[in-house]
Amino acid sequence: MYKLIDGKAIAAEMREEIKNAVAEFKTNRGKDIGLAVVLVGENPASQVYVRNKIKACEQVGIKSYSYYLPADVRQEQLESLIRGLASDGTVHGILVQLPLPAHIDASRVLRLIPVSKDVDGFSAENIGKLCLNQPCLVACTPNGVMKMLEKENICVRGKRAVVVGRSDIVGKPMAMLLINADATVTVCHSKTRDLKAQCLGADIIVAAVGKPKFITADMVGDGAIVIDVGINRDENGKLCGDVDFENVKDKCSYISPVPGGVGPMTITMLLFNTVTAAKRSSD
Ligand code: NAP
Repeated sequence: MYKLIDGKAIAAEMREEIKNAVAEFKTNRGKDIGLAVVLVGENPASQVYVRNKIKACEQVGIKSYSYYLPADVRQEQLESLIRGLASDGTVHGILVQLPLPAHIDASRVLRLIPVSKDVDGFSAENIGKLCLNQPCLVACTPNGVMKMLEKENICVRGKRAVVVGRSDIVGKPMAMLLINADATVTVCHSKTRDLKAQCLGADIIVAAVGKPKFITADMVGDGAIVIDVGINRDENGKLCGDVDFENVKDKCSYISPVPGGVGPMTITMLLFNTVTAAKRSSD
């Protein structure tokens, strides 16, 4: 019998802890914790993500500053905004919602975010520190996966983990976190030969592929722990993950659902990173 990893419940519990930490910061330092959210253009998915992030900030008492810029904003205008936020002592975290319009050089913009305010954990320095297992701001989604494993008392040490997907924002930092937690990690991608054999040998599978129901029951060994990062629509337009949940679940010891799994953890880890950044700031 499998156990469902309830990301929604874990996220709710963590948000209560974060709320207390935010209140404590205010008492001790006499100021709010601030997160600046920058959205360029009118991408509907980005608008939803930004709205949810602002709402989550409100719930835990983090002050959010939102900046909505038109799709045709000039590179210099956007850069000047980020420079201002970088030196603003009331702003502890800066989030630039991606993707940015094609005419904007996104990496130049992101490089202007100080490492200490990079609450997405996407900067080369934060990723480098993660590789060196040094304190840093860690990418929210993979860090959320680690928190889910931790809250379920799943010991990662010595386990064989297969991460399917090697993106800079999910797969690669996920693999690093698992290595740092003493798992034996294999990273698979679109050029991997015999993905099924790799997955069948895994104690833990983290699926971050972006293909609906891609991990099927024949790829999962008995008793495996399966974490589904994917957010996709199935053939009927229904939200689903990268794992064929209905057919895979009975083979698992633990499995996270979509929705209600990793998704709620991602924004929670953004709040967590913002509090971490604020606590480390000297202002
Ligand atoms: P991505 O940048 O598109 O990366 C997908 C990865 O999957 C790539 O490394 C790709 O390999 C690999 N892949 C594609 N086809 C494959 C195949 N047939 N066999 C093995 N590997 C294959 O996607 P992402 O940004 O990492 O996101 C992955 C999924 O997670 C998406 O559904 C996304 O919506 C979801 N997501 C969820 C959250 C959340 O909060 N829950 C956050 C971020 C992302 P190559 O490198 O060889 O191309």
